[in-house]
Amino acid sequence: MKYWWLEKYQNLKVKMLPELLSDLQFFFVVPKNASKRYEEIRKLSVSSLEEEDLCLLLYRIVSSKNIKDGTLSLIIQRLLEVPQTNLPISDYSLEEILEEIKNLYQNRPDEEKLKHNNVAACYHCMNIFYVDKIKKVNQNHFCICPYCGRTKLYFDNDLIPMNYSFLFLAKLYYGVSSLGCDFLKLQTMAKKDIHVLSKQSVEELLPMDASFSSFLRSFQEKKIRSEDELPLIKGFYDYFHSYEEKGEYVATFSLSWDSNQNLFELSFLLMLSSFTILMNSFYLKKIQIFVSNPSLKKELESCLRQVAKLT
Ligand SMILES: [Zn+2]
Repeated sequence: MKYWWLEKYQNLKVKMLPELLSDLQFFFVVPKNASKRYEEIRKLSVSSLEEEDLCLLLYRIVSSKNIKDGTLSLIIQRLLEVPQTNLPISDYSLEEILEEIKNLYQNRPDEEKLKHNNVAACYHCMNIFYVDKIKKVNQNHFCICPYCGRTKLYFDNDLIPMNYSFLFLAKLYYGVSSLGCDFLKLQTMAKKDIHVLSKQSVEELLPMDASFSSFLRSFQEKKIRSEDELPLIKGFYDYFHSYEEKGEYVATFSLSWDSNQNLFELSFLLMLSSFTILMNSFYLKKIQIFVSNPSLKKELESCLRQVAKLT
């Protein structure tokens, strides 16, 4: 399911609203024409709304804290029925991924492409969807994303990876995160703010959510698939965020990994989460990652080095 992160809000209690709002701020990008669209949909029944409007309505209700009836549960229920549409993880190396991201801007989402493609991906709002959802084009004949209203789209025939880790890095690269960023900041973070160490010091670690911890450990035996990427990024992010909430300057993460599975995938996702939290945090400025597995340490260092040296 696409909105797996809404599952825990099925039986929504008022005290869960701040957490739901924080999750929405992580996953949901406010569309360009939000106010206008909200005015159009606010009086309509939830059962008649499209997925993108359900998201907007959910965001507006939660952020205004104006909860009167069961609308919220109904919206969540409907969103939980939306299936995943992302494509499998590509076998691109980080070097190739970075190259594709650098060239992404030149890729034009021409209207013509609608005839020859099935799936589109947007690196502004990170949605992956069937092209029949695209209903609008701008005066340059560029397709407009039905979710966020921007023209940051590419298609399956463009042969660019269509999975979340790619979209996530593209989003960071082009500075479309909630606070904005640019690639120079990513390079600085990779060079100076994220440290990979092999031996854990005496520092106390904050506890990791138990269900995330067992979810993470399960990938010592099985491949990380496309649908696992976002839950992993968010899990790491939440862990780092607990340091930010405590007003800490340094977050420490320790990963014991007794397998040689998913070394690149794990390093890449951990790096993305580290970038995201460093970009969005007020207190937290450094991340220390202790890795006992030498192969994993090497992979993680290599990922950081590649981002750091890229111009
Ligand atoms: Zn979009």
